[in-house]
Amino acid sequence: MKFSGHIFKGLRFRLALSYTLFFAILLAGFGFVLRGMLRGVIETTVQGLLDEEWAACKGFLRLDGNGKPQWVYDPNDKEEAAIVERLRLIYMIADEKGEVVESSEVYREMGFQSPAVIARVLGESKPSYAFQKNGRDQVFLVRQGTLSEPGGRFFVALGRNFTPSLQVINEFSNAYFGALPLVTLTAAFLGWMLARRAIEPLKEVAGQMAQVTGSNLSLRVPPRGSRDELDHMIESYNRMVERLEKSFQQIRQFSTDVSHELRTPITVVRGQLEVAMMTAKGEGELREAIEAALVDIDRLSQLVRALLNLAKAEGGQLELQVQPLDLAALVREVVGELEIAAVDRGVELRMTLPRTSIIEGDRIQIERLLYNLIDNGIKYTREGGYVEVLVAQQIEPAKILLEIRDNGEGIPAEHLPHLFDRFYRVPGKPAAAQRGLGLGLSFVAWIVKAHQGEIQVKSEVGRGTAFEVVFPLPSTEATTPREYGNQRETAGRHTNP
Ligand code: ADP
Repeated sequence: MKFSGHIFKGLRFRLALSYTLFFAILLAGFGFVLRGMLRGVIETTVQGLLDEEWAACKGFLRLDGNGKPQWVYDPNDKEEAAIVERLRLIYMIADEKGEVVESSEVYREMGFQSPAVIARVLGESKPSYAFQKNGRDQVFLVRQGTLSEPGGRFFVALGRNFTPSLQVINEFSNAYFGALPLVTLTAAFLGWMLARRAIEPLKEVAGQMAQVTGSNLSLRVPPRGSRDELDHMIESYNRMVERLEKSFQQIRQFSTDVSHELRTPITVVRGQLEVAMMTAKGEGELREAIEAALVDIDRLSQLVRALLNLAKAEGGQLELQVQPLDLAALVREVVGELEIAAVDRGVELRMTLPRTSIIEGDRIQIERLLYNLIDNGIKYTREGGYVEVLVAQQIEPAKILLEIRDNGEGIPAEHLPHLFDRFYRVPGKPAAAQRGLGLGLSFVAWIVKAHQGEIQVKSEVGRGTAFEVVFPLPSTEATTPREYGNQRETAGRHTNP
């Protein structure tokens, strides 16, 4: 698969760009820090040298009879003379009023300290350091200190040319920042290559994903085994495809089931009518054939209606007509309707109900729910068995409980999690019991959910099945528990005649 779109919008470009920008900013910042550190080290060193020179100065400076400082040394001692000469290269001495007593040529060129500065330095116990410039753009570091002698206090400034040090610092800066563009360019190239390595697996995976289409949903993207974010994405993608595949299978199965379910009765009706047309003797036989055909057509339309309802319900188009309902009365009604079917199969219907039990619900849907669950109980219970419907009210937390249990064949545990899936039928049931489309329980689940209830199934093979539905209590005053009480009436038992 090719990624369309401009190169500058691509992930690779953005990765490389952010990497390069980050690197360039980091390098520039580092350069400034290094430059500052270098200058700091050089300055401290020069200050140290000036301190040493001051210590030497003190050995040669004495006050004369007028109380003025004098350089005292032996002019015949060449070494001593040379030292004093060097010390007197860049210096000035001023008295307490700020008047210059002595100074060197170089110092005069760069100008003397103002009386205010001199007064400040004389008032401080520690020396201070300052930069001064002369007319030729040379920079000097000057140590300003106090000479305290019994005869008086003097301001003494000693200087050192700082220009060569500044040149070293500048040379370093030029070299460092001059190389920066080239280094950044190299980093950009490396970033571009690295980004390609990072993106390559993504492209590869995208290519594999593109091969998974509606017709080969069984294909999976193999995880790379790196257990990273990409592998995590592949796993999520595979799980999504798995869910899609299941839905596709269900839909395919559904189409097969529906066409099968519809075709059989249509063929039967057609056969019945054809035979009747050709062989029926008299109106009576024709009528009989038409009646039989009508029964099958009824079943067909029921099926179509059920499908339509489920589609509507799941598509959110079915609106519930919610009103206070007496669940106990509804159970009695539905049980009454199903009695004939139960008697036919030799199954006993039992009820354990309170006198009334008010819930808020849609009458048609709750009837459908009861009908489906009780009918299933009858269908999947052998002759001589029973189906029992219980309604009770739980106080804490307040809920209405409905249970439909039978002592029929039961459902193997592995099928229980899928029971409410659409079109799910427990395999291996006798043909008669397989007449449903496997839609009943998914519809029941939808009805319970639409009523903010919960449904659970418990089953044991050979011992029976119990469906437990919980409905929330209606919030209105008219239906407080006091009103419809909790006392039970064990309703009339519907037994086989
Ligand atoms: P169907 O129309 O096939 O009955 P349902 O959705 O109502 O579809 O039920 C799904 C499957 O669950 C049934 O095919 C049946 O195998 C199983 N089943 C439902 N109720 C019971 C029950 N009371 N006892 C045993 N099996 C049941």
